[in-house]
Amino acid sequence: MSSAVANPHSEYIDKRIEKLQMSDRLRTKITDTTHDIIIKDFSCHLFTDLIQTTFTPAYLRKHACSDCGGKSEHRCHGAGEERGELLKRALERVFPDTTKIISLKEIAVAFLEEHKTTRFTFKCTACQDKEPRPKKNKKSNVKSSLSKRKSIRLVPPGESESRQRTFSLRLKWIAIFIRKE
Ligand SMILES: [Zn+2]
Repeated sequence: MSSAVANPHSEYIDKRIEKLQMSDRLRTKITDTTHDIIIKDFSCHLFTDLIQTTFTPAYLRKHACSDCGGKSEHRCHGAGEERGELLKRALERVFPDTTKIISLKEIAVAFLEEHKTTRFTFKCTACQDKEPRPKKNKKSNVKSSLSKRKSIRLVPPGESESRQRTFSLRLKWIAIFIRKE
């Protein structure tokens, strides 16, 4: 679990939220729709677009890549704080009862608010490419030590003979079976 952080762009996010509140965008209303469906339908389209239009190219130009100080080109959600995850948190907060009615605008505002407690940042292409893919990295580290252990797993004598064939120590156990008979 990542602990809450104060995002350096929070003040700007608040300003953009204010602007969104006053605009005539996103007035569509939603009801009787699960969070999963909303995320599936909107996460990759509407909310990607919202990130692009909220953190404008002009704003990006004012903020260097947070890793190397180079030119910012990408809006980066960190691991565990991906767009879909933030949308999920927003929905849990403002739309817990899906039988009620909510506007897309209310969801969008909550979604933007969620960014204020994340490590959302801007990066250049090279640094974005270098970003660790945490799930894969962690898994491969664990895997290498686990697979070594798996290869020397023993089969207790009570197991059937066919199952034992699949293990490297089968000859030893067959010898025990023969001796038993
Ligand atoms: Zn960079």
